[in-house]
Amino acid sequence: ATPTALMVASGRGAQLGVFIKGQQALESARAIDTVVFDKTGTLTSGRVSVVDLHAVDGVPRETLLRLAGAVEDASEHVIGAAITKLARRELGELPPVEDFAGLPGLGARGVVGGHEVVVGSPRLIEARLPGPLAESVSRWETLGRTAVVVARDGEVAGGFALADTARASAKGAVAELHRLGLRTVMLTGDNRATAKAVAAELGIGEVAAEVLPAGKAEAIEKLQAEGRVVAMVGDGVNDAPALARADLGLAMVTGTDVALGAADLVLVRTELSVVPCAIRLARATLRTIR
Ligand code: ADP
Ligand code: MG
Repeated sequence: ATPTALMVASGRGAQLGVFIKGQQALESARAIDTVVFDKTGTLTSGRVSVVDLHAVDGVPRETLLRLAGAVEDASEHVIGAAITKLARRELGELPPVEDFAGLPGLGARGVVGGHEVVVGSPRLIEARLPGPLAESVSRWETLGRTAVVVARDGEVAGGFALADTARASAKGAVAELHRLGLRTVMLTGDNRATAKAVAAELGIGEVAAEVLPAGKAEAIEKLQAEGRVVAMVGDGVNDAPALARADLGLAMVTGTDVALGAADLVLVRTELSVVPCAIRLARATLRTIR
């Protein structure tokens, strides 16, 4: 590639809202045949809120909120922040949590008022869910909501449904990528049913769900081993190894510094239409050069 053509491409990229970090990035973009998207914070706004709550028989709503709110107060996850916000709004003060531990990609645990409390994905909770709660959980997941379950001293106390809204630009960007002949994949730590519902809403072709943070880069490698040339779009600390492993890493500018550092392209706008634009730009630039 000639320096002039690349400079022009960088200028055009800046207009589109793509910051091209290296010349290699543009070269890689040309050969991409698969685009992998992180779900939370990338395809969705990441502004999660609690939309439903289910306390099991015999557990007051207030108790469920107090236990979960107290543990999540120490968590840095957006899910934790949403649960704590609701708990504070309804209860005011929350009790302190001791021995807090974040469980990446799964949930959080801690001791509240002498009780061991676990909050997280249904697959984290070992005890069987009582029937009515299990029904709520599967209803939430079918609707594309994220279900979080709470256990106290090993006994299930209830659950929360969290909703996140898809970015307005997501569906159009996916359709445009398909028109360009690319395959799309959603990669998420969220459960399979929720991920499938969101993927269906956006028209995403493939889903890799329930992937733990450490497994995201591995999932990219697996696609590459099938001979696919992969772009990854992400935002979280969790996504940094996958962004670095991908043939082309695209980070949302609203993402964490770690993700930005690992990416080849930074999407300055949170408008996802810049993803197909960047790929088209790279293809056109390299055609001009040859
Ligand atoms: P994503 O890949 O979509 O960004 P994460 O890997 O951060 O998601 O989290 C995956 C799943 O782990 C969540 O959908 C949720 O079920 C659970 N989880 C993670 N952290 C927490 C937390 N602090 N509280 C409750 N659940 C959590
Ligand atoms: Mg994310």
